[in-house]
Amino acid sequence: MIQAPKGTYDVLPSDQGARRTLRAHAERILTAAGYSRIETPAFEPTELFSRGVGAATDIVQKEMYSFDDGAGRSLTLRPEGTAPVCRAYIEHGMHKLPAPVKLWYLSAFFRAENPQRGRYRQFWQVGAEVIGADSPEADAELIVLLGELLEAMGVASVRLRLASLGQPETRGAYRAELTEYLRANAASLSAEVRARIELNPMRAFDSSDPQTRAVMVGAPKLLDRLGPDDAEHFACVRELLDAAGIGYEIDPTLVRGLDYYTRTLFEFTSDSLGAQSGVGGGGRYDRLIEQLGGKSTPGVGWAAGVERILLAAPDQPRAPELVDLLVITAPAGDAPAAGPGGSGDDARAARPAAFELAREARRAGLAAQLELTGRSLKSALKHADRLGARYVAIVNDSQQATLRDMAGGEQQELATGAVVAAILRGKRL
Ligand code: ATP
Ligand code: MG
Repeated sequence: MIQAPKGTYDVLPSDQGARRTLRAHAERILTAAGYSRIETPAFEPTELFSRGVGAATDIVQKEMYSFDDGAGRSLTLRPEGTAPVCRAYIEHGMHKLPAPVKLWYLSAFFRAENPQRGRYRQFWQVGAEVIGADSPEADAELIVLLGELLEAMGVASVRLRLASLGQPETRGAYRAELTEYLRANAASLSAEVRARIELNPMRAFDSSDPQTRAVMVGAPKLLDRLGPDDAEHFACVRELLDAAGIGYEIDPTLVRGLDYYTRTLFEFTSDSLGAQSGVGGGGRYDRLIEQLGGKSTPGVGWAAGVERILLAAPDQPRAPELVDLLVITAPAGDAPAAGPGGSGDDARAARPAAFELAREARRAGLAAQLELTGRSLKSALKHADRLGARYVAIVNDSQQATLRDMAGGEQQELATGAVVAAILRGKRL
C-alpha cells in the first residue's frame, strides 16, 4: 500500500466543513479591513529564503525542502509566506499602488520537521501583511485582526505575548552586553546554556534550570535598551491595544525564528495545544524589502497555523450539506407505488430526460444530483434520505416524473419539464 509521506495528511471531505469556516472568517475579517488575497508559487528560488528569512535561522539551516531544477538552479518549497509576498511586491512594482498595500494569503507551506501533533511537513497558514506603512496603528490593527480571527473560530485559552526587538544594530549591541553578563555568571548557569553563550545567548531565557533562571532574572533586557524612536513606537502599539481592550503580556524573552524582524514582535498561544502552543505570530520587518532588492519600505504582518487553529478550536459548526433534489431513473418494473409502472423501454427513454432534469435544476440554482449507481428504487430512496435530499424526482419515461417531498412523503405526478418550477414554488413556501 502506498501511503502519504510522513508528516503530511489528507484533507478529507469530512474535514472540509471546519476549513471552510476558517477560510470564510479570514476572508470576511480581512476583506472588511481592506486586505486583498494574494497567491504566490509553491516553490521559489532558494536564495529568497536564505536572504529573506535569514541564513542563520532554524528554517534555513535545517527545515527547507530544496532541490535542483535540473538546470543548476536551487529551488525551495516555500517554508513561509512573508518573503514570497515581499518578492511579489517588488517584482510587480506594487510600490506604485496607493500605500499601504494590504495583502492576505491562505496557502500550504513546507518544512522538514519532526512530525508531531500540530507540527507537520506540509501545513497551512493564513497570513496578512501591510507593506508601506510604519505607523504603530498598522501593527496594532494586524494584532487586532488576528485576535478577531482566533475569537471567531473559538480558539480556546488564547494568550498574546508582545515584545519589541528594536533595530538590528540595537540587537547587536544588546547581544554583546548579554553575552558579557552570561560570561560573568557562567558558574551559575546550566552546562547546556554555558555551552551556548557565544552561539545563542538569548536561548538562556528559555532555560528551565532553576539556577539559570535565577541568573536570568537579573539579566539585561532588550526592551530596556531600545532607542527612543523604537521605544515610542512600542509604547504607541501598547496604548492602541489597551484602548482596544486587548489583553497581552510583555515578554522580553520572546524570540521568533525569523531574522528580519524589527520593532514589534508578537505571538498568540493557546494553552490547550500542549507542546506546540504557538497558534500564530508575526511582527514588523522594516528591513526586509530592501534586503530583497527593493526600495527601503516598512512592513508588518503575521501568519497563523491552520491546523493549530483547528486543533485549538475543534468544535466548528458543521454547515449541513444542502441537496435540494436527487434525480432517479425508475428502473424497469420498479416504479414508485403511486407512479405508473415502468417498462424496460420507458426506463431507457427516461435516462436522457433524467440527465437533462438534473442539469436544468442546477441551472436554476438548485443543488441537484443524479443517481449514478443504478441501485433499486427502494435503495435510491434510502440514499436520498442519507444525503438529506429535500426532493426526489423519479423520472418514469421521457415525459413523466414523480416528484416526492422527502420531508412529508407526498408525491405528485407531473411532466418532467415542470419539476424544477414545482420545487422552486415549494421552496418559496
Ligand atoms: P514553532 O515555534 O511552533 O516551530 P514557528 O515559530 O516556527 O512555530 P512561524 O514560522 O512563526 O512558526 O509560523 C507561524 C505559525 O505557523 C505558527 O504559530 C504555527 O501555528 C504554524 N506552524 C509553524 N510551523 C508549523 C508546522 N511545521 N506544522 C504546522 N503548523 C506550523
Ligand atoms: Mg518552527
